[in-house]
Amino acid sequence: MDDESAVIIQEEEEALSLQRKEPPRIHRLEESVVNRIAAGEVIQRPISAVKELVENSLDAGSTSISVVVKDGGLKLIQVSDDGHGIRYEDLPILCERHTTSKLSAFEDLQTIKSMGFRGEALASMTYVGHVTVTTITEGQLHGYRVSYRDGVMEHQPRPCAAVKGTQIMIENLFYNMAARRKTLQNSADDYSKIVDVISRFSIHHTKVSFSCRKHSAARADVHSVATCSRLDAIRSVYGVAVARDLMEVAASDDDPSGSIFKMDGYISNSNYSAKKTVMVLFINDRLVECSALKRAIEVVYAATLPKASKPFIYMSIVLPPEHVDVNVHPTKKEVSLLNQESIIENIQTAVELMLRNSNTSKTFHTQTVCPSTAGSLGSSRNTQLSPSKDGSRSQKVPVNKLVRTDSLDPSGRLHAYLQVKPPRQPEGKTDLTTVRSAVRQRRNPKESADLTSIQELLNDIDGNCHSGLLEVVRHCTYIGMADDVFALLQHNTRLYLANVVNLSKELMYQQVLRRFAHFNAIQLSEPAPLPELLMLALKEEDLDPECSENDDLKEKIAEVDWEDEKNCFQTVSAALGNFYAMHPPLLPNPSGDSLQCYKKGTKHDDIKNGRNSPNKLENDAVMKDEYDNELLSEAETAWAQREWTIQHVLFPSMRLFLKPPNSMATNGTFVQVASLEKLYKIFERC
Ligand code: ADP
Ligand code: MG
Repeated sequence: MDDESAVIIQEEEEALSLQRKEPPRIHRLEESVVNRIAAGEVIQRPISAVKELVENSLDAGSTSISVVVKDGGLKLIQVSDDGHGIRYEDLPILCERHTTSKLSAFEDLQTIKSMGFRGEALASMTYVGHVTVTTITEGQLHGYRVSYRDGVMEHQPRPCAAVKGTQIMIENLFYNMAARRKTLQNSADDYSKIVDVISRFSIHHTKVSFSCRKHSAARADVHSVATCSRLDAIRSVYGVAVARDLMEVAASDDDPSGSIFKMDGYISNSNYSAKKTVMVLFINDRLVECSALKRAIEVVYAATLPKASKPFIYMSIVLPPEHVDVNVHPTKKEVSLLNQESIIENIQTAVELMLRNSNTSKTFHTQTVCPSTAGSLGSSRNTQLSPSKDGSRSQKVPVNKLVRTDSLDPSGRLHAYLQVKPPRQPEGKTDLTTVRSAVRQRRNPKESADLTSIQELLNDIDGNCHSGLLEVVRHCTYIGMADDVFALLQHNTRLYLANVVNLSKELMYQQVLRRFAHFNAIQLSEPAPLPELLMLALKEEDLDPECSENDDLKEKIAEVDWEDEKNCFQTVSAALGNFYAMHPPLLPNPSGDSLQCYKKGTKHDDIKNGRNSPNKLENDAVMKDEYDNELLSEAETAWAQREWTIQHVLFPSMRLFLKPPNSMATNGTFVQVASLEKLYKIFERC
């Protein structure tokens, strides 16, 4: 049967099967199609090609790597190195798929140290661009140059003059992928992405000198010289302003039953100020991303530093090669780690400690700990946790009354009970002592105001305290936020929902009264224009500002009963309590139903509440994701920070100070949602 009739028969079959509504035939894709699809995955943008080429140069033991880019990489990407070069006899298969010098057996993957191993990068580049390789190996008089298309050489390698190493040039990237070329042509930021990646490589591989420039430019945009000092490298690439505000950080773990790793790096201190987090992360010398770790560190910054600055982070994590699965992502951008959670937590602790130590004067803003006080606890990280050694907990308890969480651990997370480790932070002690004495000082009754009205109000609080709720507040375990307003708590065998806005309002009110007249004075450089501010406030409250005349306002001020001291102080305290209460952030919670608010096309102004960001919509047009990532990340940080503060600041302070009023038992502030005994009855029936 000739080709033509075969095609006719196939078409007839297809038409028939359509009529009969049969499943479509499965056929084998042509290899060139398969290869181009695969190549498009490996080389997604010019930056992916640059990263692969630089990694090849590093694998080749280079000490100098230079990158030249034209048209954001679409016209030309050229990477030259002084590495070991490529043998003449390997050139014919160099750009075939799955040809590599770095891996032979699958088991080698477990211990692989080189960055490449799939033998796919060069091949992919030849399917989506024109690749020319010039290389010379040691001891040769001349080098060779050869061009490739679709995995194969276009001609025999030609002898040529060459300096030590290899130069790989890709021209006309995505020449055969019109759609991708078009989207990339419209986006202006590929060159800056390339500069960013070279900057990252250069602060990690300090022994290698890197340069990166545009084809037409005489000056390089990144230029690093080999140095022994990481800080020098950071200074030369990211600038003095960044390097000045960095501190060294390290963490490690060598517990074979937990995690084994070593981390060292540099993180920004409290003086550093930036709108965007820069996180340069290397795991076993691979430049990777780990959003979980990034977020974990951002949360610590957001909660520890009063200034809402995003951090600069450089971290190098080393762990046994067999604990890293490098093969989870086609471009090796993400890796998966054994015991990732415990590693992240460990690093988070180290970062938190550094930040607190560097920022001791501001530590009290987040007042977290008072480990010496029974039933009260701040951050689990700074505290000796030893539930299993706690005598009160070793008594035999019927199983349906067995409480597995521990109010001594505010985090209430399970792994804390599975594994009890002594804290390894002797440096933390000074910090704890200062915090302890600060808390003690605040509890000192002498501090409260010497005013009968305040005393009466405080007595009212004591007299109106609900003893059952007091017990719950003192000894509950915080489990997590159930929604924007309610936190889930466990107390003995019961679960409660508690309204954190009401609780924090009340706590702040009580604290204001307790410390009345003992707040630090705030000296304003210029005295505040009180009369004007009062007018503003009154106008704001006025429902009908049009007809509010001065006389009215004066009358209103006169209405305040300045004679009734008790009433006056109570309202002031209540207003302050309301001001400092843990209201939900203004931006809607992105982890709930409100996520769609952050979709492109949503009217940002509706949710931004007057934030001024004039270029926002323009920037959005350039960004490719369907969500407004900048706003989304701002919201995520705000919510994460609030949750962190609820867990580590509000609850520990409540345990110490809150006297819950009787009204809270009935006004919906506390709602019991389950009791273990009853649940047991239900499960017993199952
Ligand atoms: P991989 O890096 O996964 O092995 P690549 O397609 O990136 O696959 O490269 C294929 C092979 O080409 C490498 O294994 C290496 O032997 C060789 N090679 C690529 N780039 C260079 C270079 N700059 N210097 C020396 N050898 C290189
Ligand atoms: Mg490679």
